[in-house]
Amino acid sequence: MNRYRIAPSPTGYLHIGTLRTALFNWILAKKYQGKFILRIEDTDIRRSSEEMVNVIIESMKWVGLDWDEGPYFQSERKEIYKKYAQRLLDKGKAYYCYCTPEEIQSRKQKAISEHRAWKYDRRCYNLSPGEKEKFESEGRKKAIRIFIPEGTTTFEDIIHGKITRENTEIEDFVILKSDGMPSYNFAVVVDDYEMGITDVLRGDDHISNTPKQIILYKAFGWQPPKFGHLPLILGRDKSKLSKRHGAVAVTQYKKDGYLPEALINYLVLLGWSPPDGKEILTIKEIIENFSLKRVNKKGAVFDIDKLNWMNSEYIKLMKIDELANALVPFLEEAGLYQDAYLNKRYKWYLQVVEMMRERIKTLKDFITLGRFFFRDPEEYSEKGKRKYFKQEFANHLVYLREKLAGISDFSKGHLETITRESAEELNIHPKYIIHPLRLAVTGLTFGPGLFELIELFDKETIIRRIDKMIIAINKGG
Ligand code: GLU
Repeated sequence: MNRYRIAPSPTGYLHIGTLRTALFNWILAKKYQGKFILRIEDTDIRRSSEEMVNVIIESMKWVGLDWDEGPYFQSERKEIYKKYAQRLLDKGKAYYCYCTPEEIQSRKQKAISEHRAWKYDRRCYNLSPGEKEKFESEGRKKAIRIFIPEGTTTFEDIIHGKITRENTEIEDFVILKSDGMPSYNFAVVVDDYEMGITDVLRGDDHISNTPKQIILYKAFGWQPPKFGHLPLILGRDKSKLSKRHGAVAVTQYKKDGYLPEALINYLVLLGWSPPDGKEILTIKEIIENFSLKRVNKKGAVFDIDKLNWMNSEYIKLMKIDELANALVPFLEEAGLYQDAYLNKRYKWYLQVVEMMRERIKTLKDFITLGRFFFRDPEEYSEKGKRKYFKQEFANHLVYLREKLAGISDFSKGHLETITRESAEELNIHPKYIIHPLRLAVTGLTFGPGLFELIELFDKETIIRRIDKMIIAINKGG
């Protein structure tokens, strides 16, 4: 059975790149009826935090990437690493190193000043029994290093093909630090072996670690898993996607109003393309069509416009009450929940949602673009003020207001008739009354069809908002 894993380090939020790696692994596990394992690589105690672990778990759950086993925590597996390090010592494949960081640093400096390439010089591999005894009696701290044998290390990368590295380029790296913590490369190998991982799919940034890990597998006499390195996600400037390109934390996408399904659909297309070129895919279609053969070797550029488009397509596809529900956290945050959900208003709220769904790219847009449904505009858009904060438009609105005050039929057709009639009587083009009216009601210069929109308001609200803008114009903005 195929066994896949994702192994994030909780030294920060869950990055969008790690999420995509998790996604590819998860898809393959589903596709081949395998297992997907979550392992938290928290050996860097100082930089890891429980809060970040929770954020990772919350992010994975939010997008629906469920795991079959775990989360395993490396920090709870120290005894296991110790046991395996001892095994390598016993086999003569690893050795104790008593060098202090200062000693190593000074030898390294010397090598550099003499223009010699530096890697750990095996000082402790070559210790005499007497020297060793001396260090032991001094109570010196000791780490364990792997002995890198001569030769070359080759593996067949699922994505990149054959990769070969000269072992001379690799130093005898530390596998167990003097504080008993394993190094990344060692813990990963022990865990992947112990957890029966068959396929390791991870980011390209780990490609240089793989030969080191393969050397460890060989030292133990274990069969290495298959390895595949996924191209990185790049920012628009083609450098590795980082904070400076905008949001990279998965939780930020949640806060910004992206739908998990849309984010997943977008991420799967980042580096992979389906055979038929179709872009909006259900998770079932993704699982059916996915194959590593169609994964690009080169990095893929993260394009927020495309994600926004994808998100808006998903919003259009949602059932209306599902969408209304998905908006709840955003309404709550904006303090508008009561306005939308009071029982008698629920039907009205659904109409509002229906009217706005074509226009919003994210759930958060509903608040920014549709706030006026719930609250009188506090301010008017700059463009609107520039164009319509003029006495003549205030006069048009005064005229219209008087007419509206006298009617009770607030249906779309009737409102339109009254407005057009007013324009005729004022001898102006209807747009010179329609546009200021929109600004008065919404505070914006764009939005849904004006008459459909004002039909959703009661007369008092419309009149109050017209009055408010007339006053604002008279005050000069
Ligand atoms: N903890 C490593 C990371 O977050 C995992 C690398 C791996 O998958 O082996 O990059």
